[in-house]
Amino acid sequence: MIIKSLSIRNFRNIASADFIFDPKVNIFTGNNAQGKTNLCEAISVCFGKSFRNPKTSELLPFGSQDNETAVEMCFTFDNMPEKENTVIYTQKNSSFDLKFNGIGMKDAEELYGALRYVLFIPEDLYIVKGEPEKRRGYIDFVSNMINRVHNIKLYEYNKALRQKNNILINMSGYDKNASLMLESWNETLAKLGVNVMCGRIRYFDMLAAGAKIYYSMLNNNSEILDVKYESSVMKDISFTADDHIMMYETYLTRLRESAERELRMKYTVVGAHRDDVSFYINNMPAKDFGSQGQIRSIAVALKLAEAGMITEKSGDVPIIILDDVLSELDEFRRGFIINHIDKFQIFITSCNLSDTEKFESGKIWNVNHGKFELRGA
Ligand code: ATP
Ligand code: MG
Repeated sequence: MIIKSLSIRNFRNIASADFIFDPKVNIFTGNNAQGKTNLCEAISVCFGKSFRNPKTSELLPFGSQDNETAVEMCFTFDNMPEKENTVIYTQKNSSFDLKFNGIGMKDAEELYGALRYVLFIPEDLYIVKGEPEKRRGYIDFVSNMINRVHNIKLYEYNKALRQKNNILINMSGYDKNASLMLESWNETLAKLGVNVMCGRIRYFDMLAAGAKIYYSMLNNNSEILDVKYESSVMKDISFTADDHIMMYETYLTRLRESAERELRMKYTVVGAHRDDVSFYINNMPAKDFGSQGQIRSIAVALKLAEAGMITEKSGDVPIIILDDVLSELDEFRRGFIINHIDKFQIFITSCNLSDTEKFESGKIWNVNHGKFELRGA
């Protein structure tokens, strides 16, 4: 899709702003706290939901509770470039209204599938350098984006896991009935856990391969990125999403093997909830040895790969929002991002004016106290 234009009224510190966007590159530059992320967020509400997860009332400008917030986005889909579509988000007090081509939508779920965007925010660096939970969360997010039953499988798995862990917490010493119940939960967990793992790895190779390519492009082929799914169940056994039976048996064996440890720890120590993703740069673990620029480059490469996956699976090219992506990156990497991500329409924010010196084509706005001024206009 291509966002043609955006109008904002009374959204956080942006009183009024109107944009006609470039079909490729749009850059917003200004000092800290001027409204760059607020603009990105205004775009995101047109996709159904703010990425900041605020209370609705927080979007209203401070001290203007009687005003109405409105964001209107006009865009085209790639297969029908001549037809303009609109999403209008309006909000008064804490109730909001979202309309897609005049039809009321309840929330993001209803827009989902029709509109998708890829977002980088600085918190995404934790996908690489944070705890395993962050990485699992990201892989689950990507898996669910491609196949909407993934979250249902994950929900069922987590529910069963909680129930088994409750038995472990309440057990003191050997208890025959509880042991039988644990065995039955192990079978359920093995079945549901294999579903979750298969949901993750079915598209994982595509994401990993895309990230590898974009990572090389970002550093002018001087470094190689490898992304691996680390299964606490399968360990070194190689497997694909089609190996259900072998995975189920291995899963059950691992659960049985860890019974004693589980009793001591009072939770389930192996399973899909303990899996992780590792990033290696030139065969060295990035989490331990990666520089800030390398870690940021991995996060960006993942996001670009995610956009590639959406394009391939949905047939529509998503837009990409990169909030504060350029800091810590060297000149080559910055230049690549602002000039060479040409398959997608991108929106980039930066608080460093010099980031735009090498800018080749597109539009740049300066942002000051919530006011946006198009450079060269
Ligand atoms: P940085 O470069 O530091 O990320 P930014 O330009 O992205 O800065 P924003 O996050 O867009 O900054 O925020 C700009 C300002 O908007 C902040 O000073 C913040 O206090 C203000 N702000 C946030 N919510 C509201 C609101 N509801 N009403 C008015 N101002 C708000
Ligand atoms: Mg910001």
